[in-house]
Amino acid sequence: MLEEYKKKHTKPLVQHLILELNGDILETDEALFSISKNENIANIHPFFETLSTLLNTNNEDFNFSCIHLNIGNYTAICDIIIKTFSSDKKPLLIIHDLTEHYKTYQTTAQVRNESVINSQILELKNNYLKEKEAFKNTFIANFSHELRDPLTGILTFSDILSKTSLTAQQKDYIQILNSSSSFLKQMIDDILDISKIEAGKLELTIEPFSLSDLLEELKLNYTLKAKQKGIEFNYNFDTNLPQIVGGDSKRLRQVITNLLDNAIKFTPEGSVTLNVSLNQIRAQKASIHFEIIDTGIGIKKEHYKDIFSSFTQVSENDNYKGTGLGLAIVKYLVELTNSKVNVESELGKGTTFSTSINFLAHSGLKLTQQKKQTDIEFNPNKKYNILLVEDSEITQLSVLKILATKGQFFLDIASNPDDVISRISTFENEVDLILMDIKLKEHNGEDIAKQIRSLPERQHRKIPIIAMTAKVFKEDFKRYKKAGINDVLKKPFNERQFLKKLSEHLN
Ligand code: ADP
Repeated sequence: MLEEYKKKHTKPLVQHLILELNGDILETDEALFSISKNENIANIHPFFETLSTLLNTNNEDFNFSCIHLNIGNYTAICDIIIKTFSSDKKPLLIIHDLTEHYKTYQTTAQVRNESVINSQILELKNNYLKEKEAFKNTFIANFSHELRDPLTGILTFSDILSKTSLTAQQKDYIQILNSSSSFLKQMIDDILDISKIEAGKLELTIEPFSLSDLLEELKLNYTLKAKQKGIEFNYNFDTNLPQIVGGDSKRLRQVITNLLDNAIKFTPEGSVTLNVSLNQIRAQKASIHFEIIDTGIGIKKEHYKDIFSSFTQVSENDNYKGTGLGLAIVKYLVELTNSKVNVESELGKGTTFSTSINFLAHSGLKLTQQKKQTDIEFNPNKKYNILLVEDSEITQLSVLKILATKGQFFLDIASNPDDVISRISTFENEVDLILMDIKLKEHNGEDIAKQIRSLPERQHRKIPIIAMTAKVFKEDFKRYKKAGINDVLKKPFNERQFLKKLSEHLN
């Protein structure tokens, strides 16, 4: 019974044929297609034309896979086996119809190929985006570097100019020059910060610092700024706040000043308030809450999210200048501490930005001894020989002018390695310090520093080298150190920063 059903319902997939040695068909079933006896196999499909030599072998098996057959109405993809024997047994031809199998296989292979191709396209796209990103970040870093030389010139000369005898009007002009260049410097710093953030290179530096000093300084600065704008500045600092905490003071200052600057900028009348309170101290960590409240123009609710994106400004009033980077930086810095910035605002009534940040807080935190603001001192009985390696005329002139005001420096200038080495070796008096621009037009300051560090004379090898550069990423510092550079003076610098750095290496 079962056999009968099988016969009825199973679709046969294999046809057997017994052949003569010349290819004539002796016997066949009709499992796949019908064919008349005595017909030569070579006539039914071109594939079989090549078989005649194989049919004359002894005891061999020949396997052919994936053969497309087209015989009358029958089309299929088959595996074909030819078996030959040694006695007078005739060769056997087995045709195995594997159409379904090959079709499924083809579809799977196609899907697989498509997914391989898609993943390759994705990889290409990713590489393209990465390259674009890297190009953008290098461009920004180089471009801002180029801006720093002229800016150093402006800052130094307006500083020098302000110390000459000026009329009241000239003093006002200098004031404008100063505030414009400070604003420009701030923008360059912000753009560099954003490029660092986007490259994932901005990290926090956790060190003990005086929270009370920082708040005191903010209080003085913003009382003044608010007064200049004709609005009020209020502050409430919790008396329980720890005086010394561990955290990144520079970045905390950046967060609060960005928020306070905005508050003052967007508040035409009324007040700006800075509230700082202690949430709790637990497990040697203090959670401190900062709140910046203003009575300014306010922000629409639908803009809450946009204001934290880079280069976004939502105020409809074009009179407010800015780059739209401040809040993007604030958000990123606060998120680095695993916290977030909240905003609450009412249009025309005012805005409150707030955040809670964790700081280290325990009795073991000690401030590292920092030199006081005032102590830039040089030995009054000494004259110093400074070698400046620099090819920008503006910076050469700026350094020259600053040193001239002190009257105890000799300055020599070189701009290529040969000159540097010969100046060091032949300078009448020993060179006391080398100021090295890193990005000379035709040379690299790091390479020159390496050459100096491999000079034969010990006293030449030991001359302090200060790099002057705008490239101050962590990995840049590592490279400078490896090249034998002792310290870095960040461009743009002002007179005070310049002399301070020199004093640290000359006394
Ligand atoms: P910028 O101040 O340079 O424009 P920010 O990223 O600091 O850039 O701010 C983005 C935008 O958010 C501002 O241009 C302004 O439209 C809005 N904004 C920020 N702070 C305030 C505030 N205190 N009051 C009203 N609007 C604000």
